[in-house]
Amino acid sequence: MEYLKSLVNEHKAEVIRLRRHFHLHPEIGYEEHQTARYVAQYLRALGAEVTEGVGGVSVMGVLQGYSEGPCIALRADIDALSLTEETGLDFASQNPGVMHACGHDGHTAMLLTAARILSDTKDRWRGTIKLLFQSAEECAPHGGAKDMIEAGVLDNPQPALVYGLHLWPEIPLGHVGLKEGPLMSASDRLRIHVVGKGGHGAMPHQAVDAVLVASSIVTALQSIVSRQVDPMDAAVVTIGELKAGSRYNVIAEEAHLDGTVRTQNEELREIMPARITTLVEHTALSQGATAKVTYEKGYPTLHNDPWALSVARRAVVETLGQTGVVEVSRPSMGGEDFAFFAQQVPGAFLWLGCREQGTVGYPIHNPRYTFDEEALPHGVELLCRLAMLSLEELS
Ligand SMILES: [Zn+2]
Ligand SMILES: [Zn+2]
Repeated sequence: MEYLKSLVNEHKAEVIRLRRHFHLHPEIGYEEHQTARYVAQYLRALGAEVTEGVGGVSVMGVLQGYSEGPCIALRADIDALSLTEETGLDFASQNPGVMHACGHDGHTAMLLTAARILSDTKDRWRGTIKLLFQSAEECAPHGGAKDMIEAGVLDNPQPALVYGLHLWPEIPLGHVGLKEGPLMSASDRLRIHVVGKGGHGAMPHQAVDAVLVASSIVTALQSIVSRQVDPMDAAVVTIGELKAGSRYNVIAEEAHLDGTVRTQNEELREIMPARITTLVEHTALSQGATAKVTYEKGYPTLHNDPWALSVARRAVVETLGQTGVVEVSRPSMGGEDFAFFAQQVPGAFLWLGCREQGTVGYPIHNPRYTFDEEALPHGVELLCRLAMLSLEELS
């Protein structure tokens, strides 16, 4: 498939142009209307069968090869984040307070360019390729993947394999991170509402201080991971938001805590809500307050299927050579709703290296985050090969 390399090379300017277009016009999850329209028009121009408004704002394009055959799916996420961009790039965000800081601009651009190449070469492959442009990946616990599945994107026909990529700045340019089994973590949402009794700041004995109760809860929660979880299991409990009080000399009556719980072991994930609820309720009670825990299950653990990964390994080696493979030894505690697709269909999620050599870039979700655009043609070629190799494998 050497022709593929030169085709990708011819489309390098196109993938960069698309990436910069999406970077200039970022939209947050569930509001990616312009992005979705752009994607749909692009796909229609390629002759793909296009469905818009899939389970919300997502778009599905379907490409058919020269004859009937197996079906596979490729997925890209299209949403940006509520962040004010500080990269100083000349194609920086034109939407104030919104930024593509997770590289989904690149994911969308790569899948569109791959779609163009796959469409131009349909005389070389048979079967069906479903292109899933998913909205709202960043909107855990309710992301767009589940909505797409419920809208039927994995039915009639059901893909036999599904793949997704994420631009990954921890991996150097020209490499792709591969890992069998768990790659990313289950991500659940934890909200706590504390009710005490308001009063005068100078007369604490007449009140129940919700600020102190909330602080005790934050501290007590740290004992969940350190004392109640097997040290060999990975888990995180983070309270990222704590809101209480209105004035310096008034004892707060209420406090709101908002956080996330990450696990990789499904059994551990199941027992977390009860463990946390008991601890929180009793900590509050011991100080005369009450606390209500709302626990919401978000994304499950993302598992890479061994067979799907073996096909992906071939695709990486053909794209970047044997040295392009980075064996990832440890999963990330980050969440990713591609996990829902991989629960339904054998699938694999790959980390596409995008860090320039000799540079220490900013991490994803940082207002200064950007990536090396040389990674884009790598991703385009990889997506094309993933599609063609898996259709070949399935035939
Ligand atoms: Zn992200
Ligand atoms: Zn992301």
